Amino acid sequence: MQCHKCHKENINKANYCRYCGTKFSEEEKEKASYYGIVGILRRIEKWYKATTAYDITQELWFKLSSVIILLVSGIYWTISLGTGIHLLESSLYHVFYQQEQDEYYVFVNGPKEDILEVPLQIYIPNTVDGLKITHYDEDNSVISEEEHGTKSELSLPVNISGNTYYIISDISNNEKPLKIRIYYGE
Ligand SMILES: [Zn+2]
Repeated sequence: MQCHKCHKENINKANYCRYCGTKFSEEEKEKASYYGIVGILRRIEKWYKATTAYDITQELWFKLSSVIILLVSGIYWTISLGTGIHLLESSLYHVFYQQEQDEYYVFVNGPKEDILEVPLQIYIPNTVDGLKITHYDEDNSVISEEEHGTKSELSLPVNISGNTYYIISDISNNEKPLKIRIYYGE
């Protein structure tokens, strides 16, 4: 859900914007959830209940709606996560994509000082031969650079500091690089 004041992305169930503190109205939250996966499933359920009133066997409609649910959710995830290199959600953090800056913000769960490093879960398409992970400081100077081989998923321990950032790129430059900043959550 996009904040009407600062236009930054927030999760659909948020009550307040995590960037500027603006309160979201019930109407805004409802509208956002309408386009989210839960909203889509709810509309399918409603449609299913409405159509079962017709004189057609329950079983047929059940099969048909299951297929539609699979199709719709498949399309939804492809749009939201993309098919290229991307960050996977984890119980240890939440990922937010900032469209304006084209950056990923990772908010690490748990209190400050307890965790200094977090394993980032990264999805790697099988067309990628290897990844290069570069850590930059606030003046855009390279702190460290590492290469990783191919696997479908990589768990990368990274330092938590919003002042520095990471660029994750495909060594053969076929995929769009990701820019990531890591912060402590609440
Ligand atoms: Zn805001």
